[in-house]
Amino acid sequence: MRQTSFFSGVISGTASRAAALLSRHLTAVPEAMAGRVRFEQLASIQRLTPVMMAANIINAQLVCLAGLGGTHRLTLLVWAGVVTCYALLGLRGWVAARRRKSGKNTVSARGVRRVALQAGLLGFIWGLLPALALHDAGLHMSMLVVALMAGMIGVGSFALLTLPVAALAYTTPLVVGSLWVLLTSHEPILLALAGLLIFCYLVVGLSCLSHAKVFVDRLVAGDELERQKQVVSLLLSDFEEGSSDWLWEVDAAGALTYVSERMAEAAGRPREDLLGRRVSELGAELAEAPEGLSNLGGLLIDQKAFRDVVVSVLVGDELHWWALSGKPIHDLDGAFAGFRGVGADVTQARKDQERIKRLAHYDVLTGLPNRLSFLQALSAAWDAKGKTSGCAVLCLDLDHFKGVNDSLGHPIGDALLAEAAGRLRACVGETGVVTRLGGDEFAVVVRDHLAPAELGALAQAIVDALSQPYELNDHHVSIGASVGIAVAPADADDADTLLKNADLALYRAKGDGRGAYRFFEATMDLWAQERRALEIDLRSALKNDELKLFFQPLIGAKAHETIGFEALLRWQHPRRGLVGPDDFIECAEQWGLICKIGEWVLNEACRQAAAWPAPLKVAVNLSPNQFAAGDLVDQVRAALEASGLAPSRLELEITEGLLLRDTAGTLEQLKALKDLGVRIAMDDFGTGYSSLAYLWRFPFDKIKIDRTFVAEMAGNPAIADILRTITLLGRTLNLEVTAEGVETADQARILEDMRCDHFQGYLFGRPMPIADIPGFLLDNTAQQMRRIVLDEAAESAAAAKGA
Ligand code: C2E
Ligand code: CA
Ligand code: CA
Repeated sequence: MRQTSFFSGVISGTASRAAALLSRHLTAVPEAMAGRVRFEQLASIQRLTPVMMAANIINAQLVCLAGLGGTHRLTLLVWAGVVTCYALLGLRGWVAARRRKSGKNTVSARGVRRVALQAGLLGFIWGLLPALALHDAGLHMSMLVVALMAGMIGVGSFALLTLPVAALAYTTPLVVGSLWVLLTSHEPILLALAGLLIFCYLVVGLSCLSHAKVFVDRLVAGDELERQKQVVSLLLSDFEEGSSDWLWEVDAAGALTYVSERMAEAAGRPREDLLGRRVSELGAELAEAPEGLSNLGGLLIDQKAFRDVVVSVLVGDELHWWALSGKPIHDLDGAFAGFRGVGADVTQARKDQERIKRLAHYDVLTGLPNRLSFLQALSAAWDAKGKTSGCAVLCLDLDHFKGVNDSLGHPIGDALLAEAAGRLRACVGETGVVTRLGGDEFAVVVRDHLAPAELGALAQAIVDALSQPYELNDHHVSIGASVGIAVAPADADDADTLLKNADLALYRAKGDGRGAYRFFEATMDLWAQERRALEIDLRSALKNDELKLFFQPLIGAKAHETIGFEALLRWQHPRRGLVGPDDFIECAEQWGLICKIGEWVLNEACRQAAAWPAPLKVAVNLSPNQFAAGDLVDQVRAALEASGLAPSRLELEITEGLLLRDTAGTLEQLKALKDLGVRIAMDDFGTGYSSLAYLWRFPFDKIKIDRTFVAEMAGNPAIADILRTITLLGRTLNLEVTAEGVETADQARILEDMRCDHFQGYLFGRPMPIADIPGFLLDNTAQQMRRIVLDEAAESAAAAKGA
């Protein structure tokens, strides 16, 4: 008993020392893996346990048989019995372990030690054999036993290959036992065998070590690989969850071999449906071909990594865009095996991009190409024909658009622009590219050569089309258009100059009274420069106190008494001298100066008139733009208050043009003005569109017949008829009627016969500076007296004649 424990102590001590020694030569196994490595080592041993045990039993029986005739028969029988029992025990343990199958895949260090111990014990039993069987045995028996021992060393170490500790524990006693007998035999052949056995032991031991190392290395590497796989798949699923991108893989033929769930979603088909299909089968086409590529197949041929290649794909009936990036994959032989990469649905981004692109080139309001597109079209036309057969630019601008926009509001202004753009496009058709430069400015690029007459006809058609009345949200709006034309190559040496000159021609067309077209002429540049100088001067005229009011008398038709004066603006220009309103009022309107000027006129006229004898009125002309600004009523009220002039002595003259532009906003302001107590006169009656409807819609106090009628009246009976009708109308509507431009006594007499109420004209007095008014009034009173005296004399002469 003590002996057994001594032996087992020696064996286990040796085993653990050997284990420590071996572990130094083996791969360092991470602590977390050690249990599993041990498990695999034992599992591999266990697989060979039946073979090992069978070999033990058979060999033990063989030895027994061989020794039957010898002296140690009984010893051998007992020994063989021990080996067989031990082997059968081992087999039983093996069967039990198989049945147990705990599902655990780790083994403790103790488990390994136990196996090593068991192997050592078996080795020890075998190690006893030479001592038991070869003592006094013959040479043949010795050789048989040594051969058997060598065989057992081979089988044992083979079976215990994965666990060098156990292999050594098993084989060492065998070798030691055999060597002990062989070396003490003094038989040369047996000594040689001893050498062979040592050699065999060393080879088996070393190969066992190296195999165990490979085994453990492989396990560790496999485990590492598995771990990496898990990490990668974790990262990938994280990636797929966290981003809109998805993963794909195709083989060398372009067929999908991996499709992530998200890709299937993006394609609108189940994964199974996609696997094995080529991407081109999804209706995919290159949307933006990278350089040197014409189709998707090119990517497969190139076998190079690509990035963000955009393809269009049919998802259901909808066209989608995917951005694909991929890297080529190669098999172990380095042959191209397909692509692996990521993809993303970029449909929304692409749509946004297209919208932005559209916004960059098209005007949102009218849908026309914008300024950028215009410049591109112009430079293309110039490059193609600018210097050869020629091209042309038409610049156009809507007249009075600003007034409509200001008074009716931006929605109506926008609707007007959209409608005008439609008309313009219809009018130009295929002849040119219609673009909106901004605001109410448009331009047409005519790419082909057109004769001046054709261009003129086109421009006139544009003016006519845009001047037709517009019906916008119950508003009846009339505007006009002016067009400037520049023709290449005659008018310019480059595209920029061509545009600049078309613009100059437009400037001129507007300056010449609008509603017309003008071809560019070389002198326009000079004219424009003068206009610019004028603009600069006019901007400082108010500040420099250069504006003056002249006053033209308004005369009663019967007694020729002065009933008031019309205030008429003059500009005392430091170089140009006295400039009349016809030369700068329109500019002031265009340049946005009229409101300030108009306010000054109102204040000045009221201030002057307040100093006149009480019944005398003052008439002030108003520009439509003053209504558009919106603060006219306040200005009038302030002027009256500041001057102290009775509202009934102020008469505001407006033109028909104002009423044409807008009805609602203007009428409201006119009513507010009337509520202040001032009088409203319609000026230049008969020259505009003369819609009599206006006379009904607004209670005017006076109409002023335009002087062209008066001038034509004598030689044209039709005009005389019209004038008669107007005066009749005035009486019917209870309006005063003033005839303007009365230059001759004859005209005055006819108009008096027509029962005009008042006259205004050179016959009675030209517009005069304020200082001349007292003298005029004296003269006028004297003339009146003279007229009374003459009339009385005539009357008494007639009476005497009658008596
Ligand atoms: P209007 O309101 O029709 O003014 C009358 C114009 O006819 C004045 O020209 C006057 O000098 C001219 N005139 C008067 N009697 C005769 C005549 O017997 N024969 C001829 N041939 N002409 C006559 P003016 O002063 O040059 O004013 C021209 C226009 O300028 C005015 O026409 C008016 O529309 C505008 N205007 C004048 N002052 C102002 C102003 O303060 N504000 C605004 N917005 N416009 C003004
Ligand atoms: Ca007037
Ligand atoms: Ca007038």
